Amino acid sequence: MGIVGAGPAGLTLGNLLQQAGIPCVVLERGSREYIETRPRAGVMEHRAVQMLSRHGLADRLLQEADRHGACEFRVDGQAYEVDYSSLYDGQTHYVYPQQEVVKDLVAAFVNGGGDVRFDVQDVALHDIESPAPSLTWTTADGTREKLDCAFIAGADGFHGVTRRSIPPGAIQEFSHQHGIEWLSILAEAPPSTHKVIYALHPDGFAGHMLRSATVSRYYLQVPVDDTVDNWSDERVWAELHKRLALRDSDWSLTEGRIIEKRILDMRSHVVEPMNHGSLYLLGDAAHIITPVGAKGMNLALHDAEVLATALTGYHRTGDDTGLRSYSEVCLRRVWRAQEFSQWMVFMIHRSPEPFLSRLGQARLEHLIGSGASAGYFAQNYVGP
Ligand SMILES: Cc1cc2nc3c(=O)[nH]c(=O)nc-3n(C[C@H](O)[C@H](O)[C@H](O)COP(=O)(O)OP(=O)(O)OC[C@H]3O[C@@H](n4cnc5c(N)ncnc54)[C@H](O)[C@@H]3O)c2cc1C
Repeated sequence: MGIVGAGPAGLTLGNLLQQAGIPCVVLERGSREYIETRPRAGVMEHRAVQMLSRHGLADRLLQEADRHGACEFRVDGQAYEVDYSSLYDGQTHYVYPQQEVVKDLVAAFVNGGGDVRFDVQDVALHDIESPAPSLTWTTADGTREKLDCAFIAGADGFHGVTRRSIPPGAIQEFSHQHGIEWLSILAEAPPSTHKVIYALHPDGFAGHMLRSATVSRYYLQVPVDDTVDNWSDERVWAELHKRLALRDSDWSLTEGRIIEKRILDMRSHVVEPMNHGSLYLLGDAAHIITPVGAKGMNLALHDAEVLATALTGYHRTGDDTGLRSYSEVCLRRVWRAQEFSQWMVFMIHRSPEPFLSRLGQARLEHLIGSGASAGYFAQNYVGP
């Protein structure tokens, strides 16, 4: 098995295959240090953690992650809490930075004898429509190498090479630009909250996400086509203070050194099917989703689990049922997550069209005021 990409998807797949005794090689463009320090996601679903735990891959996570079962919506300076854990079987999120997940997965894979080639360049896929595909790449010292394999897993993210190796017309691509943009900020600041905050403000959405005891992530809705250069640190903090403010409260936002600022492309993209010939796409290589519902890494882990189960079944018995249904099984969850993400995007952003804006407000009022709507939110947010 050749796996392209050592992100959460590729490394989880590698570990599960290794545990099943299926030989695999992981090819990664970055260095080990790069992937182990690349901050992105931080909110993990209950079932994703359970899956990692069943495979002995969540020991540190279970010791160190904070568990969260409530979030807060702030509207016009007023806070509304949604206790989603109590609405969905006591299930909670685990807050654990993505780079720590990656660190744990690399360690487990390498310590178990796994083969990861870091710093590879110019990965190319060959004969993916045949049962004997291969991968070639250039090593850090310039040598061209080749791996013959039975299957290739494309886990190299949205901008990787694997999806682009599929001939035009063989897969359908669904793309949606949400018409909004977020400035994503990571700061060395302890969280100013115990719950994720989604704040709706006339000047746009602001979010306070949790990462660790010393680092927090924040989001600011910014005009489409805005650039990071327009956002000095002072302007970022001023805007966060304003949009996150609470009326009649002594709550305050703790500032810290900003260590990352980037504009997020708020786009959704799904390919169907998620496989072609001997190539199976997983994670961001097959689908991206806005960070609004914190689903991207969780979907990547689910794909890895489904693919590992299918490959293990095939390896042991020759039964390819799991491989044939791989795409369908994954896409069911992907589209459900996309629908939920879209539902949330609509609710927490004020549309420039006044009618749509009022609909979004009505959705939020329904969520805050109705058990049924809060139940829908809880099930989709922490689960399913
Ligand atoms: C700011 C932000 C916040 C987020 N918050 C959340 C959250 O709270 N919860 C959540 O679930 N998700 C979240 N996400 C999404 C999540 O980070 C992604 O969905 C996740 O990283 C997908 O994992 P992956 O393994 O599919 O891809 P990636 O993590 O992108 O890994 C792909 C790997 O492939 C390597 N690669 C790329 N091209 C090549 C090549 N040609 N050859 C070899 N290797 C290659 C890359 O270097 C990388 O290491 C967030 C994303 C961002 C940007």
